Amino acid sequence: MKSLFRKGFIVLCSLWMLTGCGKDTQLIRQTDMAMGTVVQQSIYTNDVKDKITDDIIEAIEWQEQQILSRRLDTSSVYRLNETAGNTVAVKEELYDLLKRCVDISVSSGGKFDCTLGSVIELWQIDKWATLGDGEGYILPREDAIKDALQATGYEKLMLEDGQLTMPGGFVLDLGAVGKGYTLDVLVQLLKERETVTGATISLGGSVLTYGSKPDGTPWYVGVVNPHDSSKQLGVLSLRGQWCVSTSGDYERYVEVDGSIYHHILDPDSGYPGESDVKSVTILSRNGFLSDALSTACFLLGSEKGMELARQYEVEALFVTKQGELVMSDGMQAVFRTE
Ligand code: ADP
Ligand code: MG
Repeated sequence: MKSLFRKGFIVLCSLWMLTGCGKDTQLIRQTDMAMGTVVQQSIYTNDVKDKITDDIIEAIEWQEQQILSRRLDTSSVYRLNETAGNTVAVKEELYDLLKRCVDISVSSGGKFDCTLGSVIELWQIDKWATLGDGEGYILPREDAIKDALQATGYEKLMLEDGQLTMPGGFVLDLGAVGKGYTLDVLVQLLKERETVTGATISLGGSVLTYGSKPDGTPWYVGVVNPHDSSKQLGVLSLRGQWCVSTSGDYERYVEVDGSIYHHILDPDSGYPGESDVKSVTILSRNGFLSDALSTACFLLGSEKGMELARQYEVEALFVTKQGELVMSDGMQAVFRTE
């Protein structure tokens, strides 16, 4: 897994393309692999010599390797998991992130839970889903899931005075917020570069739009049809800084004896969550919120999920299992079907 993140691999995957698009502004496009997913950048800049796209990849890798990863032994989350059972000091950035995760857990009635690591490790769905068709995958046993669930529960995390205490055996997993949160970090990087006039960065299921295009047209962010993921359901037209995150059961899953097991788990059962929806897209100014709430709303379903979206003042689009679209007013204003 580690080798995936090595620079050599990423350089191999890189595509450079420079397109003239105005007197001074150039468009740089680049595609890489990072954070276990595809990263696509389109950056409008007045300084083509600026290695902004490489700096962005470096920042994404830094977040993964130094802060967020549950698997890499270089990360803060890994070290916190190693010291479960003790009280330990947590870097301010991660401390705040954990606090915000707990806040989403409380508001979602516990459906969102960043302490699900032991159950996620048992299922290993992300790993198998990226390997291919899941042939050879063995379902975890029911009693093993019950045991792993014992070592979960956000309400048992204590976050006080910059310190974390969690019971022994607990495993933090920030997979549901890592990409959106990283997009927030990238906004800071973009703001420091005055030569960057606009950008879109797609990081797996989360997309950032920033600034504007030289020709004045909006950013277009496609929404995948979860009932046929080779097709687009529609497009969001956005101006300025936004983050769009989608969670669904159609992208990362394994199939066993004709049944689908996807990667968003219900903390109450320890099994993949079921609701009336197949995918949820959240639109917010903030990447952390859009990512966290897309996962939470997927588990809550369209009715309770819409209430949660309203509470956090974000826009939501639910695609139900029947293929209906349920949208907030603000989403309706920017979404059009293909
Ligand atoms: P993606 O990572 O594909 O964008 P999500 O943002 O919906 O999808 O996050 C899914 C990931 O979140 C899982 O792979 C797992 O690491 C983690 N996760 C699974 N179930 C939950 C849950 N109930 N609460 C919080 N995190 C979860
Ligand atoms: Mg998410």
